[in-house]
Amino acid sequence: MARNIEPQCRQCRAEKKKLYLKGERCNSAKCPISKKRPAPGKGPRDRQRKMSDYGIQLREKQRLKRQYGMLEKQFKIFFNRAERMPGKTGENLIVLLERRLDNMVYRMRFAASRKQARQLVSHGHITVNGRVVNIPSYITRENDVIAIREESKKLLIIKESLKEYTRSGVYPWLEVNPDEMKGTIKGIPIRSDIVDLMDVKEQLIVELYSK
Ligand code: SF4
Repeated sequence: MARNIEPQCRQCRAEKKKLYLKGERCNSAKCPISKKRPAPGKGPRDRQRKMSDYGIQLREKQRLKRQYGMLEKQFKIFFNRAERMPGKTGENLIVLLERRLDNMVYRMRFAASRKQARQLVSHGHITVNGRVVNIPSYITRENDVIAIREESKKLLIIKESLKEYTRSGVYPWLEVNPDEMKGTIKGIPIRSDIVDLMDVKEQLIVELYSK
């Protein structure tokens, strides 16, 4: 399975934004964005350069793609699918990305980052409605029950990640039972429910792909 192997902090620095790709480290003083280091190869002179419309659209797409840990080909497949759905393509895209199994595993706090969630899924640690699903891009549905496979419940990284559930809980459309290590998708979110992505301007991505 192809995956993005670009160093994670480098991706954030390129986007000049925290993309929260490394779990707990992202909220600590060790995060290079918190230290305000310039992006790789960038200096004060670059900050003065005005970005073209194309550049702004491209940055928005790169940011979202990186945030969900996807490669261009996979991202475009999701975009094409969003385009075929009724409603606004940009909003459909974000909701579809949220419905990915690896994202749901991350949102349910079984993993500290989407990257870790993807590994849990692809290594067969996750079940959906009682059956092992090892496809990170699997699109989940309302009422799906996502659980840690019985044999995998002893994994320390899952127990550690679940501490975040105690600290922050989960989005209201999810229900998690940390003792049983399982969660239910109570409803599919709409765009405005995904508050940690409120600063994403998805219309710019639609404009980019429409060229
Ligand atoms: Fe991004 Fe996290 Fe690295 Fe900070 S620590 S730059 S948020 S991946």
